[in-house]
Amino acid sequence: MHIGKDNPIIVTKAQHTAEEFIQKKIELLVGEEEPFFAVDLEDVCNKHIRWLTLMPRVIPHYAIKCNDDINVIKLLAYLGAGFDCASKGEIKKVMDLGVSADRIIFANPCKQSSYIRYAQEVGVETMTFDNEQELMKIKKMYPNAKLVLRIVTDDSNAVCRFSMKFGADMNTARILMEKARDNGLDIVGVSFHCGSGQMTSKAFVDAIQNARTIMNYGIKLGFNMNLLDIGGGFPGNTGTENYFSEIATAVNRALEEHFPNDGTIRIIAEPGRYYVASAYSLATNVIASREMIDAETGDINHMYYINDGVYGSFNCVLYDHYVPEPYLLDNNESNEKFTSSIWGPTCDGLDCIHSSIKMPKLNIGDWILWKNMGAYTISAAVEFNGIPFGKPLYFMSRQFWNSVKAAFQPTRKTRRHNKPSIRFTATDCSNEIEEDMLPWLLEDSSED
Ligand code: PLP
Repeated sequence: MHIGKDNPIIVTKAQHTAEEFIQKKIELLVGEEEPFFAVDLEDVCNKHIRWLTLMPRVIPHYAIKCNDDINVIKLLAYLGAGFDCASKGEIKKVMDLGVSADRIIFANPCKQSSYIRYAQEVGVETMTFDNEQELMKIKKMYPNAKLVLRIVTDDSNAVCRFSMKFGADMNTARILMEKARDNGLDIVGVSFHCGSGQMTSKAFVDAIQNARTIMNYGIKLGFNMNLLDIGGGFPGNTGTENYFSEIATAVNRALEEHFPNDGTIRIIAEPGRYYVASAYSLATNVIASREMIDAETGDINHMYYINDGVYGSFNCVLYDHYVPEPYLLDNNESNEKFTSSIWGPTCDGLDCIHSSIKMPKLNIGDWILWKNMGAYTISAAVEFNGIPFGKPLYFMSRQFWNSVKAAFQPTRKTRRHNKPSIRFTATDCSNEIEEDMLPWLLEDSSED
């Protein structure tokens, strides 16, 4: 395999799993030890196709806070997704790729004033709010903005809850709508977020019903309510596919009941982890180890130090309540397991990924694979202690990419919508590659 420019995508001859890709990479990395991600772009495409298949009425707006990897943003832009941006920086990042302002929702109910001004300058009209002060701020900065009122949800079954921070209750929502009307502001829709990592469909169903009630009130006040935003929260790890289809079925049913398809309402969502969680597998190297004897029990704790930790890609352990599972590439199931702990590479005692776990014995230089590492990992990672976190290596098979291109070829309509058009080319590294476009590398290596 061959790694070329800064963000190369390795287009492989055959289809590979992330595990096979990592195995191959490690074989070729003799003497190297830096952590890396195997990013399966087919997985991202498949998620998109599954979304469009299971929830055809809901236009996904990828929440880039979840993973702001430029290649994922480009790919989803190419596939026709919209984007949920939380700040000036995120809006700029997406628009610098050529995505038009009307494909972006500024979905942060409490925004810095200068960010609102920036949204106006670049033409991002649609933005959320959930309180009176924000309403007045928007009136001052961007009175023509298209406002989306975020309502509170029951997110008690979600991994990460937001309703203690965002969302107006039903009564407040009505008062806010009256305020907006009295101040000549334009409310166009209702949004909600059922909490990140939501595993029950009921939260979505109830929230859709509440959104309908608030929309009806808005219509009564004279607003042209034409947007429903059902937020994020959809599960994305491998193994959660059934939860996703259950949620999709329930959402479709609730939409049919409360928002029948009469062409008057645009329905969008803000999925983050759904798109990227399973696409990223992280390979880390065991860089040090020691054995500590418990003074009381006499048990040995095998301590392993790896070269990515909670300040880097594993910040999801602290911020996203994630319990990552180590996976040994040469695991022999019959191997005896010992009480072990796994630590990150910095000098901080907090930098611990597993404080107690049963594992076979490892050696310095061994690789550990961690699956489902795409959500809320690299977007919040820092190089604390000067130690870099895993760098992504992207892969996709040529056959798959060709079929995706055939299916998603920009039509005249999307090309117009998407100025300048996002163009990806799978070429033999030819001069077709534009400066800010992906260098798709064709990999023809015989090892494949
Ligand atoms: N939308 C908003 C406003 C959010 O705050 C978040 C996550 O923080 C998301 C969407 C994405 O959520 P998820 O990754 O659970 O889909």
